Amino acid sequence: MPVRFLLKNLFMLKVNINIQPIYVGRGSFIKLPLFFSSDYAIKKKHQVSALRYQDLKRKDNIYIICCITRDCTCQEKYKKQCTRGFFSLYLQAVYGIRFALRYKLTYYIDFGNGWYSYSDPEKFDGDMNFWNYYFDQSLQRVEVYKAQHSTLDLYYETYPLRIWHKKFIRELSDITRKHIVLKEDVKAIIEHKLQIFKQQKILGVHIRGTDHYTEMEPVPVSRIIKIIDKKRKKFDKIFLATDDESILHTLLNKFGSDALIYHQASRSSDKVGVHTNTISHNRYQLGLEALTDCYCLAHCAEAVLVHSNLSYTALVLNPHLPYTLMETRKSMIKRVKTNLLYTLDRWGIRIL
Ligand SMILES: [Zn+2]
Repeated sequence: MPVRFLLKNLFMLKVNINIQPIYVGRGSFIKLPLFFSSDYAIKKKHQVSALRYQDLKRKDNIYIICCITRDCTCQEKYKKQCTRGFFSLYLQAVYGIRFALRYKLTYYIDFGNGWYSYSDPEKFDGDMNFWNYYFDQSLQRVEVYKAQHSTLDLYYETYPLRIWHKKFIRELSDITRKHIVLKEDVKAIIEHKLQIFKQQKILGVHIRGTDHYTEMEPVPVSRIIKIIDKKRKKFDKIFLATDDESILHTLLNKFGSDALIYHQASRSSDKVGVHTNTISHNRYQLGLEALTDCYCLAHCAEAVLVHSNLSYTALVLNPHLPYTLMETRKSMIKRVKTNLLYTLDRWGIRIL
């Protein structure tokens, strides 16, 4: 390799180390510093294009965080429907706020631009934005309508990729603590449920069943039970968060109803995601159940988690939660790869 080429790339490396930590996109690959080209900085996906930047930074512009957009991957978007789970959307909101803060944008979370799994006709309040059932926003809907400009988020700007790196989770946690505010009535309901978690030493367990196997290879429940069995002596109780009726029964049979705490919630008995089951009418309640389970999991003394958005959000709510992540080899490789990409990003030596 010519010396000059090496020097040039080493120089690029030095320059790029100063670049800020960035958004990590999906389906990307690594190129080592030696393969950097001179337009490296432009290629980096986290840096929005000049055109996009101009659009975002228009005077009085509002950045709208939502799904059902032109470039989202929702299959039903042409019917104005989104079937993503609660915490997939919750994390999208967190990532969206992170993006907005980085570019100093005014933002609004609008999950009312179509029909989401949590849109509840009984909660209609001028629109169907289910986010507003649970959270207070600094901006009101009317202000958004009155605004001169608004820009919808792009898929890669807010896609909730789960990066299990401690530093990243802590960053998301800071954003969540400062910018996601529970509504008073929702907070009261959750606080009430949290009482027992503050009084007793509880081992939290999240097992995602139902449709989740389509996204992540599931860990056999027997393996999770083995881990719980090993740890349970150190705890007063076990708390189980699951969306799968059969998993609840398996754990009830194994540990008994005295040791196992769980909430009354809509659970699926047929491997269909509980949020995609349109027979359940109370969509507000569905979201509330998910949110309550997640807060309770976050307040456990320790947790056994799986690769899911609910597990991940529990860590975002409490980054100090000691946990064991149950994963298959395939998910482990995926996690390690994502962590590596994140680290390279932070060092500024990655092309997306
Ligand atoms: Zn969607």
